[in-house]
Order: sequence, then C-alpha cells, then structure tokens
Amino acid sequence: MKMVLINAMTIRKVFLENTSSPSAASSPEAPARKRRPPRRVEVSRVEILSPAMRRITLTGAELEGFPPVGPASYIKLIFPEPGQTEPTRPLPDGPRAVSMRTYTPLAVRPEALEVDVDFVLHGEGPASTWATQARVGQVLYLMGPGPGYAPDAGSSHHLLLADDSALPAVETILAALPASARAQVLLEVISAAEERPLHSAAQLDVSWLVRGTDHRLAGQPLAAALHALAPVGPDTRIYLACEAAAMRRLRLQLVEVLGVNRSQIVGRGYWKLDVINHPDHDYGDDG
Ligand SMILES: Cc1cc2nc3c(=O)[nH]c(=O)nc-3n(C[C@H](O)[C@H](O)[C@H](O)COP(=O)(O)OP(=O)(O)OC[C@H]3O[C@@H](n4cnc5c(N)ncnc54)[C@H](O)[C@@H]3O)c2cc1C
Repeated sequence: MKMVLINAMTIRKVFLENTSSPSAASSPEAPARKRRPPRRVEVSRVEILSPAMRRITLTGAELEGFPPVGPASYIKLIFPEPGQTEPTRPLPDGPRAVSMRTYTPLAVRPEALEVDVDFVLHGEGPASTWATQARVGQVLYLMGPGPGYAPDAGSSHHLLLADDSALPAVETILAALPASARAQVLLEVISAAEERPLHSAAQLDVSWLVRGTDHRLAGQPLAAALHALAPVGPDTRIYLACEAAAMRRLRLQLVEVLGVNRSQIVGRGYWKLDVINHPDHDYGDDG
C-alpha cells in the first residue's frame, strides 16, 4: 500500500438546509423545520459502473430549482412499496414513507434537471433491491438536499476513510479540493472490480481495500490499513464514513493508537449492520 505523510486540513460543516440536523431540531430557538416538497423524478439513465455499483440518473420537471449541493451532502429517495409501480406522493405533513433511504447527490446538472446517484448493490433492502432492477422511466420521489461537509479552502491535507457507501461522498469532497491540497484516501470495497479512477485537482494517494462479500467484516480492512498508516499530524483533519459501528471503532483506533485528537475527525455512520434505514445524522455522538 502506498503511503503519504499528511499534515493539515480543516473540514467545515456546512449546513445547506435545516432539514434533519438534530441540534437544530431540538433547540427551542430553532426555526420551524422547512421541508422542501418531495420532487417526482424519473430514471433517465442506468449505468453499470462495476458489479456492485449502479449510477442512476434521475430527472424531471420537479427538479426545477433544486439547489446547489456541497460535498458529502445527502438526499432522501422514496422507493415504491411492493406491488406499487411508483411510490405514493408523500404529503407535506403526512407519515414518513417506509421505503425512504439516504443517498448522496453525486452530480447535479440544473440545466438538464438531472441528479446522478451511485447505489451500492449490497443485497436486500428497498433501495438496493430497487437499484438492482432499475430501468429508464421508473419513478421515485426525491427530498432534500440535506447538510454536507466542505473542506476548508485554507487547509492543505486530507485523510479520507470510507467504505463503498461513502465513495460518492468522498468523490464530491475530492472534487472540491484545490490543487494545493494533498489527500490520502483509503477506500473499502467488496472486490477489486469496484475500483475506479478518482479525480481531483489535489494530489491524491489512493488505496483500495478489499472486504469481500461478508458485510460482517465491515471496517476490518480499514482498521488494518490504519495500523500501517504513517503518523498523522496534529493539524490533519479526517473524514471517516462507513458502517456505523466500524466508524466508532476506527475513530477509537485513530485516537488511542495513532494519537489523533478526536476533534480532528469528522465521523459519520452511513449504514448499520442488521439495522434497516439507519438514520442520516449519525455522527457517532454517543461514543
Ligand atoms: C449521508 C448518507 C449518504 C449516503 N449515500 C449513499 C450513496 O450515495 N450510495 C449508497 O449506496 N449508499 C449511501 N448511503 C447508505 C445507504 O443509505 C444505506 O446503505 C441504506 O441502508 C440502503 O438502504 P437499503 O434499503 O438498500 O437497505 P436497508 O433496508 O436500509 O438495510 C437492510 C440491511 O442491509 C444491510 N446494509 C444496508 N446498507 C448496506 C451497505 N451499504 N453495505 C452492506 N450492507 C448494507 C444492513 O445490514 C441492513 O440491515 C448513505 C447514507 C448516508 C447516511
């Protein structure tokens, strides 16, 4: 595995919209949550990127006015229930859709009214099952975007640790880095066939780590790679996004073994083993 010395980075949390920030929701002074109405979108393109990754382009007149998104922001997608050909349009104050899941708007093209989303085909689940069979013309509802992260323009070094579910988020972060930045990227994927070129103006050092199909091993390849990591400087800021329990273990490893200050790390649980529809705002504040 290639190694590079990491020096400094600051990741700034950007609140793009007050959709589901737990702190905003619980503060007495917080303004009423403003939810944008769900937008009806159709599949206009399905691209097989690799055995376990589909790029699905969503389009539709209701994407008019979809705002610009920052790196690692998210959208909510509502999938059809069994027996439905398209999901029921959610009412603004109606019950939460059962088959609603969190995804990263990888590319947004306002002029074409298009949003690209990369889906990991991890097995069973409304989103993964739908993405496996997705065809042009099928309908979803899209909500958001919600808050993401943006690298501080004044920072020069990044360490990004992610599994395949956060690979799109990592790509949006890399796209935002300036040429003066350096980033080391550790990516955990199901197989070597999932590797793809990553683009950034920044200098990149990318390592692909193969987990295999047993999702119970989530985080183990990242943990092994951390053991071999060169010292992490005190100014390094780390973006860590993967399975929720693995994120907590890896953060502990960074702090206790590598001596990283917890404040250097932005951690986010993207999914949780054996949990359906893990929440979109798991920053690991509980541990
Ligand atoms: C901010 C944010 C952005 C995200 N962006 C993306 C994205 O761009 N692309 C993407 O593919 N995912 C993304 N995810 C992760 C995605 O929301 C979850 O993987 C989601 O659970 C998938 O829904 P599902 O209906 O397929 O499975 P669920 O019904 O939610 O889960 C069923 C079971 O599948 C397993 N499982 C769920 N997700 C995974 C996984 N990724 N790998 C292995 N096993 C899994 C769990 O054990 C779970 O019990 C993001 C999550 C967050 C919080």
